[in-house]
Amino acid sequence: ERRPFIAGNWKMHLTLAEAVQLAQAVAPTCAACPDRDIMIAPSFTSLAAVCAAVKGSGLQVGAQNIAWDREGAYTGEISSPMLKDLGVSLAIIGHSERRHIFGEDNAMINRRLHGALDGDIRPILCIGETLADREAGKTFAVLDTQVREGLQAVNSAQMECVVLAYEPVWAIGTGKTASKEQAQEVHAFLRQLLAAMYEKTVAETVRILYGGSVKPDNIDDLMAQPDIDGALVGGAALKAESFDRIARFR
Ligand code: 13P
Repeated sequence: ERRPFIAGNWKMHLTLAEAVQLAQAVAPTCAACPDRDIMIAPSFTSLAAVCAAVKGSGLQVGAQNIAWDREGAYTGEISSPMLKDLGVSLAIIGHSERRHIFGEDNAMINRRLHGALDGDIRPILCIGETLADREAGKTFAVLDTQVREGLQAVNSAQMECVVLAYEPVWAIGTGKTASKEQAQEVHAFLRQLLAAMYEKTVAETVRILYGGSVKPDNIDDLMAQPDIDGALVGGAALKAESFDRIARFR
């Protein structure tokens, strides 16, 4: 049985005071839904205050990226010991915005993923095809490469900590959610791929989240799919009311 996982990615939104306020508004949802994991990923500048504000609530706090080394001359980067120090337990890695706006490739994403694992931070590895990939019939080939290269040299034991997030680029911030059938088809493909790469139990236990225009009115249908274990929510995570409803999917 895979424990459901609802995650909010706040991206580059909210000032410190706004972030703490939203975190405090979202935190009580955890007590109401003890059967699922709930996480928010504020900007780096709000992490310390948000971690302090939600301490003890069960709400997990994630970072939006992570460095591959623990320290060093890496201007602008944030490492696992810095995040652990605050109470951050997860990190989003390889988000499509990192890939497409900031030029992160699978090799770099794999290094970041190892940085997380080595630093006891659970990685959420994001993958997803562009509209051009999909229209060219390359969806599965692109995902295959992103998964294999993103998980390079990650062993079965380490996979217990890894979460996958399938976010079709054409569905992010566009209001165009993948249909539940489209999403399920890809999630099933990803689970088969994990079964080919690892032991069967890994494929059965790794959680695969869907992301891309998840809203209160489509979450229930998405979560009813057998291979969809949760959601990575962007825009709708910025309003306490909509994120709360998504986290309370039924
Ligand atoms: P939206 O929910 O705004 O489409 O964003 C999805 C996303 O990128 C989450 O990481």
